[in-house]
Amino acid sequence: MDANENPYTIFKNEVAVNRYPDGSNIALRKKLGEKFNLPAECSTVGNGSDEIIDIVFRIFCEPGKDEIIITSPTYGMYEVSANINNIKIVDVPLIENHLNTDGILKAITSTTKIIFICSPNNPTGDVVNRKDSIRIIENSNCIVVIDEAYADFMTEPSFVPEIKKYNNLVVVRTLSKAFAMAGLRLGYAFADKEIIDLVQKVKPPYNVNVLTTNAVLNALENTAEADKHVNIIIEERDNLIKELKSIKKVEEVFSTQSNFILFKMKDADVVFKKLVEKGIIIRSRTSQIPNALRVSVGTKEQNAKFIKYLKEIVG
Ligand code: PMP
Repeated sequence: MDANENPYTIFKNEVAVNRYPDGSNIALRKKLGEKFNLPAECSTVGNGSDEIIDIVFRIFCEPGKDEIIITSPTYGMYEVSANINNIKIVDVPLIENHLNTDGILKAITSTTKIIFICSPNNPTGDVVNRKDSIRIIENSNCIVVIDEAYADFMTEPSFVPEIKKYNNLVVVRTLSKAFAMAGLRLGYAFADKEIIDLVQKVKPPYNVNVLTTNAVLNALENTAEADKHVNIIIEERDNLIKELKSIKKVEEVFSTQSNFILFKMKDADVVFKKLVEKGIIIRSRTSQIPNALRVSVGTKEQNAKFIKYLKEIVG
């Protein structure tokens, strides 16, 4: 009788939704930690990884004073969160899809507080060179966030174990992609305990709801089905790459280790609109990269339809 909750419940479900969730999310953090052989105290969870990204801003950056480094083209939320928090964005663009490591290290000033590295990178799709990331972590005294939202689709090792070595590293991940739980909103991150303690202090107390907590705990109990789907998606992705490469008007297919493919073609925006007319919505990235379109890997049937219509459109 301490939290002004209602003892009656009208929502008939296996979990009691009339009670607030555990504010420190212990069960989830423990379970996620076990998956990576890390203690719960080195992990945190959020209402999607977008929330964790925003919390990292609020902990480490002073509005109107500090700055962050991004490497465009990259995931848009770093910029959105920076703007909301009134933090200056310093962009050191990728060079031919690789980090400009020297440029990043040169761009660091006394007010640089966070460097965002997205690997595999959205929207280009490929992983970032590991040695480049390590050079940045080791040669900067600001926080380096490695966003591994798509890591379950990559063959390279994750950066998560490196949090034991580097106390300025935050690795952010999500259940939205490989675990197909985007609608439940569960992001997680690993970092040194000192950083995690700050996140636990700053995050909203009940940021992960009881239905999500319950569903995720169940999903992590047995990951065989999710793993099977990841393998199917990888297989389908590789088929899609072959199909795209066989289309003459497709000028470039970017190499990818995620569940999407970036490709370039002439008149990309016209093609995009024609696909919409046929009921297929992919993502235009022409504002970031000329002529670039991004397609997420769907089911076998969806992918076949996409390729069929694309071939029809380009003749
Ligand atoms: N990071 C990257 C690179 C993403 O592409 C996305 C979503 N598209 C996210 C983070 C956010 O994921 P979520 O908030 O669903 O966990």
